[in-house]
Amino acid sequence: MSDLAQCRDVLGDLIAFPTISAYSNLSAIAYIAERLETAGARVEVMTDPGGQKANLFATLGPERAGGLVLSGHTDVVPVADQPWSSDPFTMVERDGRLYGRGSCDMKGFIATCLVKLDGLKAAARHRPIHFAFTHDEEVGCLGARALVEVLRDRACRPAMALIGEPTQMQVIEGHKGCCEYTVTFTGAEGHGSAPEKGVNAVEYAARYIGRLLELRQALIARCPAGSRFDPPYTTLNIGGLTGGHAHNVIAGKAVLEWEMRPVVAEDLAFVKDEIAAYVGDVLLPEMRQVAAQADISTEVIGEVAGLEPMAENAARDLVFRLTGANRADLVPFGTEAGLFQGIGMQAVICGPGSIEMAHKPDEYIELDQLRQSMAMLDRLGEIYGARNAE
Ligand SMILES: [Zn+2]
Repeated sequence: MSDLAQCRDVLGDLIAFPTISAYSNLSAIAYIAERLETAGARVEVMTDPGGQKANLFATLGPERAGGLVLSGHTDVVPVADQPWSSDPFTMVERDGRLYGRGSCDMKGFIATCLVKLDGLKAAARHRPIHFAFTHDEEVGCLGARALVEVLRDRACRPAMALIGEPTQMQVIEGHKGCCEYTVTFTGAEGHGSAPEKGVNAVEYAARYIGRLLELRQALIARCPAGSRFDPPYTTLNIGGLTGGHAHNVIAGKAVLEWEMRPVVAEDLAFVKDEIAAYVGDVLLPEMRQVAAQADISTEVIGEVAGLEPMAENAARDLVFRLTGANRADLVPFGTEAGLFQGIGMQAVICGPGSIEMAHKPDEYIELDQLRQSMAMLDRLGEIYGARNAE
């Protein structure tokens, strides 16, 4: 059977596991683990505290530090309320395309890795090739977050990561982070005629927003020199504010939704520190002077770390050699790459399929994209295995 035919079969199997982020991915992980073990990889399945989700980390080659991680997420976005032409979890082939939920985002890449294990094993003779297949990427990179915490403490930590998110096989070296927060303001209701006797949650939310808007200006001033992002600085957005009951009632509750897209990790820390200081030093003391139970609580909806483009990036340079590309771009969507960078690894994004198809009804990947991804992995076998040095 040709590699492409095998890849088609494996992708069909992977798509048939309905690994929507809200559900378990354990059967998909077991399937992937079995193929890796058969190829001789050392496989670790790391279950999350709930026991229904797992990351898989596997290694071909010697037990030593360094080497490359091939990385992808096993979860997919929901299909509810989307007009699919056929069952999203039964792969269908039409006109050189394979349709199914997760076909491009990003089970296609995982399938190409699983088909090329023999070549990768030979390539990993001198330095290891690892695999990281995670859970819950689509809901804030929860799996990868847990995985990098494990890797951070290891003596045998890998050096590079290739994340196979769909880029049409273009080499991507950077994206902004994406951090989303929901802030709940709890005040004290009262009659509108006596504002000083209550704590107006909407008013405190408005002052919090005012501080965020000041910080937005400060972020423009902090724009890193030479930033290639568009816009080049970290942005803040106020996405929603709800609260209050009626014209003549002091608003007892308000809920604010906002997001930030940092270009550098320092900006994220800057905004969080500044807003925490404003809440702790100014807003909360004022609120609690009137009502002891008044509160401001922040829920982190997701904090996807950005991938900062770096002058020195061995992972990018390796993928240049694998694909023949000589330039790397930036993308407007987030991935797990920044988490790997956050523990000192060098990371790059390059994978089959188009992000335009991701998350949509009738998601598909072109067979030719799978072919190109497999060619990249073949080439990895040739040039990675030939080098002894890190
Ligand atoms: Zn993805």
